Amino acid sequence: MSDQVGRNAFDVPSSSESESTGEKPRDWRRKIVKWLPLILFAGIILGQLVIGWGAGNQVPTVEYSVFKERVAIGEITRVEIGVDNLVGLGIRSDAAEAVPLYQSVPVDDPSFVDLLDEHNVEYYAVPERSTGWLTSILGWLLPLGLIFYFWRRMSRKGGVMGSDILSIGKNKSRIVAEGETGVTFDDVAGVDEAKAELEEIVDFLKNPDRYSEIGGRIPKGILLVGAPGTGKTLLARAVAGEAGVPFFRLSGADFVEMFVGVGASRVRDLFKQARGKSPAIVFIDELDAIGKSRATAGMGSNDEREQTLNQLLVEMDGFDATTGVIVLAATNRPEILDPALLRPGRFDRQVLVDKPDLIGRQQILVLHAEKVKLDPAVDMNRVARGTAGLAGADLANIVNEAALLAVRSERKRVTQEDFSEAIEKTLAGLSRPNRLVQKRERNIVAYHETGHALMAHMTPNADPVEKISIVPRGLGALGYTLQLPAEERLLLTRSELLGRIDVLLAGRAVEEIEFEDVSTGAGNDLTRAAEIARKMITDYGMSDKFRNVYLPSRRGGGFLDDGGFLQREYSETTQTYIDEETARVIDERYNHVLATLSEKRPEIERVAETLLSEEVVERERFEELIQAVN
Ligand code: ADP
Repeated sequence: MSDQVGRNAFDVPSSSESESTGEKPRDWRRKIVKWLPLILFAGIILGQLVIGWGAGNQVPTVEYSVFKERVAIGEITRVEIGVDNLVGLGIRSDAAEAVPLYQSVPVDDPSFVDLLDEHNVEYYAVPERSTGWLTSILGWLLPLGLIFYFWRRMSRKGGVMGSDILSIGKNKSRIVAEGETGVTFDDVAGVDEAKAELEEIVDFLKNPDRYSEIGGRIPKGILLVGAPGTGKTLLARAVAGEAGVPFFRLSGADFVEMFVGVGASRVRDLFKQARGKSPAIVFIDELDAIGKSRATAGMGSNDEREQTLNQLLVEMDGFDATTGVIVLAATNRPEILDPALLRPGRFDRQVLVDKPDLIGRQQILVLHAEKVKLDPAVDMNRVARGTAGLAGADLANIVNEAALLAVRSERKRVTQEDFSEAIEKTLAGLSRPNRLVQKRERNIVAYHETGHALMAHMTPNADPVEKISIVPRGLGALGYTLQLPAEERLLLTRSELLGRIDVLLAGRAVEEIEFEDVSTGAGNDLTRAAEIARKMITDYGMSDKFRNVYLPSRRGGGFLDDGGFLQREYSETTQTYIDEETARVIDERYNHVLATLSEKRPEIERVAETLLSEEVVERERFEELIQAVN
């Protein structure tokens, strides 16, 4: 029975013929073993019931006084006196011999024996009703065995319930151990420098002897620094995969628990496991969660994190490179790490995993697109150009999103349009064409966006306009102008920066020209424009007064983990200058934009009206519209 139940309920897709393949019976046996304690337990309970029934329940239990009466009237001719039981036997018509007729619980009654003697009742004592040796052994062993079994299971698996209490510190469920990651460097694209740096580690893990013979010291700890989604975890797994060594992963956030000491013991456990399987890779994600500098953590620091961090340092100092364990850790905020972590012998090497550039993005897109059916006309370069600033994970998501869109439109292949839509979705949130925007607002948005587009068109070296849209997206954006860089920009000149400010201010300028009033729609533009203007003064040394002078300011330590106060390394007077100069630059540029666009009212109107009727204007159409006016 149990076998049948076990199979039906837990074998997922098995069919009868696959049971003979050799793999299945093993599964099946494992299941039996898994459920064995339960089956045994049920069996014993059943047995107990049957025995109890057979031994006791057939004989009616009567009150002691009734029992005595039955003796007195001569019905009971023999009595078995047990420790906690009296059984009265007598002759029944259907049996030749005396059979048990009644049982009762004895009472401390000295006159009972007299009564028996008086009626010539045969009586004798039985030591204790025997339950059989098997039952007594099982009665002891089974509960013990069951307790042990469940304890083992919970501590091994981390358990679902109560795991934190039963297996504090030994909670292996959080430590993800992969024997073979199966990931190689071919699965990672667009981060060639990082790959090149990590290749040395792979080589070491493969041939440790070569290094130890020469006496070279291989770094024990490598810090992968980069924004979320840039592929740090993927790279770490690829290192393990390339070297063919096991991969142990734990996230920094998992270390820090409610109970003091849990984190430290998890660190110990992690390293113990890794050493047991060395050579191995230990990967700690979000290192900053534990490795935050003790100085800057301020009041946010806690004993638990410090203990965990100390334990990590102890572990890292405790093995040398010959142990064959290499620790990779990921963070996107290396500057807040405790300096102790970065000392030689610990995470003394940093590998930058940057957001991919144009070519890198194209490679990542192509890599992920291998899994989907592409329309031959899809131009990945164009997709890559529309995704500046996105990380690998976003790109993987875009490919997936495009594939989903193709399925939704019941196409067999993913087209360029699917990609465009997927990018927009990722960049600006979900498309919400149904959102009701009042006519007046739509009007403002159309003119505002036209301002950006036209100014971008007229500013030398500005990124060309790819698309203007007044389809509302996400929660905030009512419209947008998409500019695609013609090429990857690493350097921007002073005039190009000013050009960017012009384009940002143009939206509001057109509102002023057309409606003689301005709206709140420019909020984000103004923030970005002011940021550029300020950075030109403080970071790039492009002001008249502080020409070529770097004026740093940074967030200082505070009571909040990532708040704090602004620390300036310049005087109050300089701050005043920066504020005034920023305002002056913005004002100057705004006047310039106003003057330029005031002369282009026919173009503005034409583009804006087209936008209002068509909602979206692509690059070719936009150029056509402004040409037509000339
Ligand atoms: P991180 O650890 O830096 O936050 P992940 O390694 O977890 O990022 O990346 C998440 C996913 O994004 C990966 O599993 C992979 O599918 C994709 N991805 C990210 N970067 C790359 C890359 N450089 N090449 C290929 N895929 C990438």
